[in-house]
Amino acid sequence: MQATTITPTVDFERDGKQHGFLKLPYSSDQSAWGCIMIPVTVVKNGEGPTALLTGGNHGDEYEGITALFKLANSLEPEQVQGRVIIVPAMNYPAVRNGSRTSPIDKGNMNRSFPGNPAGSMTERIADYFNRYLVPMCDYALDIHSGGKTLDFIPFSAAHRLPDPAQEAACIEGAKLFGAPNVVVMFELDTASLYDTAVESQGKVFVTTELCGGGTSSPETIALADRGVHNFLIFAGITRGDYRLPDTPPRLLDMPDGSCYMMSEHQGLLELCVSLGDRVRAGDLVARIHSLERTGQPPAEYRAKRDGILAGRRHPALIDIGDTFAVLAVELDA
Ligand SMILES: [Zn+2]
Repeated sequence: MQATTITPTVDFERDGKQHGFLKLPYSSDQSAWGCIMIPVTVVKNGEGPTALLTGGNHGDEYEGITALFKLANSLEPEQVQGRVIIVPAMNYPAVRNGSRTSPIDKGNMNRSFPGNPAGSMTERIADYFNRYLVPMCDYALDIHSGGKTLDFIPFSAAHRLPDPAQEAACIEGAKLFGAPNVVVMFELDTASLYDTAVESQGKVFVTTELCGGGTSSPETIALADRGVHNFLIFAGITRGDYRLPDTPPRLLDMPDGSCYMMSEHQGLLELCVSLGDRVRAGDLVARIHSLERTGQPPAEYRAKRDGILAGRRHPALIDIGDTFAVLAVELDA
């Protein structure tokens, strides 16, 4: 496979702290010989594990972007044994545009792996992570939230993996992130995820959903700040005390696709349960009202399983095929 067209302006092997860019040539109407300049910070001190921390995989999920720009300013080499690579705005064009996907190629970073060095801009960034950055790391944390169209109870997450030791390490990392909920996630579309690319290289991988709606709050930023602090201790790179909530996290599972409730109607979404509420199989979760005319009975959607409403659609307007509810099952229950 051909080499990447991305050039880093930092030396990943050099001790100390460097701020720079991943430079991706992009010839556009605005800049014929221009580059996409993806900010990157490397903090390295001697031998030790490497953590790769990413935000902005989706451009409208602000907890990771904010926490990692802050960490890039605050983390110093003397606090580190090993190496921390920080990319706060992974899909940089999407982050600058405030959108989930890239305005250049409509690329969804988390559906673009393993990427392509000769592909679209989003595929080229994915390829650079897959073949250059991920192989450097032992631990990877990718901070997501719901973005403009989803909202979640705050959780860290790991996946079921073929290697039990790797799965256990990922779940342990998710627990020590310090979010109030830990979800063992079932994904609808695994093949092209960054998660899958990292996990298939044998790394310890933790991801998150820290609320959403295309904004952030003091509470959700605090969760991300604390999670990053805890993750670096978990990785054995920094020392100090974990900052964990007083109560241990609630463990949630998503056993299969019936956790996702998807609309077969277009119209106005009326959710009948709130995030974090318990529902029983058969309970009314949502009505979808017609916006065409009055006098139409709403479509009613009932839960197919017992669970907790872990995620919901954020906008009230809904189309056929939109996921409007995500149920998770308590593992302790
Ligand atoms: Zn996301």
